Amino acid sequence: MMYKTIVIGTGPAGLTAAIYLARANLKPLVIEGPEPGGQLTTTTEVENFPGFPEGIMGPELMANMRKQAERFGAQFRTGWVNSVETSSRPFKLSLEGGETLEAETLIISTGASAKYLGIPGEKDNVGRGVSTCATCDGFFFRGKKIIVVGGGDSAMEEANFLTRFASEVTVVHRREELRASKIMQERCRENPKISWKLNRTPLEVVAGENGVTGLKVKNNASGEEELIEAQGVFVAIGHTPNTKFLGGQVETDELGYIVTKPGSTETSVPGIFACGDVQDTKYRQAITAAGSGCMAALDCEKFLEGSAVHDWSHTLS
Ligand code: NAP
Repeated sequence: MMYKTIVIGTGPAGLTAAIYLARANLKPLVIEGPEPGGQLTTTTEVENFPGFPEGIMGPELMANMRKQAERFGAQFRTGWVNSVETSSRPFKLSLEGGETLEAETLIISTGASAKYLGIPGEKDNVGRGVSTCATCDGFFFRGKKIIVVGGGDSAMEEANFLTRFASEVTVVHRREELRASKIMQERCRENPKISWKLNRTPLEVVAGENGVTGLKVKNNASGEEELIEAQGVFVAIGHTPNTKFLGGQVETDELGYIVTKPGSTETSVPGIFACGDVQDTKYRQAITAAGSGCMAALDCEKFLEGSAVHDWSHTLS
């Protein structure tokens, strides 16, 4: 099958791109991976997406965006893209199961996945006290005790931010030395609401009927185990951009995030555009992802118009 454009990923970036592309009559095919709707489907209430004064549940917001794209003619299919062949247009996508799809342009909105510790009690309590997004969920922990796990800039940023709400924030890090930049460390060290449990390995998230009650850790120096009491555990040990399937054919930074041209969603490969968290190490918000999805659709539309003037217009379906 040949498409003018294929959108890979269905978070706010991919679905916004799909809405714009469908309204431009480009009949996009949108490929939904194993987590349709993206990271927002794993959160509860979203209170900072403009237009919803009472807030909206993450899964509902994503279902609405999908319906909106479908209303204008976007087609959806479930699939896992194993690899992409980008050396010539049309681009070829190999799906798990053996099927191949072809497209004149691609929009990559596969997002980034928050890393988890992989300890007992962690995944079961996502939305019940375990979170990977302070901006999304910090507000729900007013007056509560919070643990932030990690020693990088994200952990420092989240710890500082969470002191706006929490009665106390404890940073748990697996080594004595922090990885975070000096300035971020200092900001946290100067914050009287932040305390430290360094050189501790997280062992288990402990929870009761009403959600998280603490984090069991091991002191790496003494070998002793202890339970740190808290109602929230924010895991801030980094994100992994979902770019493996590109096999290095599109330029990424050293962490694997797609590099886009400043002020644009163009990638190193003409005709391939990237939007949302897969190319954003800084803002990572639903609304910024949606905004970049809109940009990608407009860039893609312009590209197809321009290319149609040149000699590959015959390849458009
Ligand atoms: P990061 O720098 O990779 O730090 C991850 C932290 O989590 C490290 O301290 C690491 O410990 C710890 N960690 C990883 N896996 C773990 C595990 N399984 N168990 C326990 N701890 C684990 O990630 P990041 O903090 O998300 O930052 C990513 C990039 O974004 C960095 O370049 C950062 O500078 C940048 N960033 C910048 C800002 C800012 O400037 N405002 C804010 C956020 C992020 P070890 O140290 O022992 O490896």
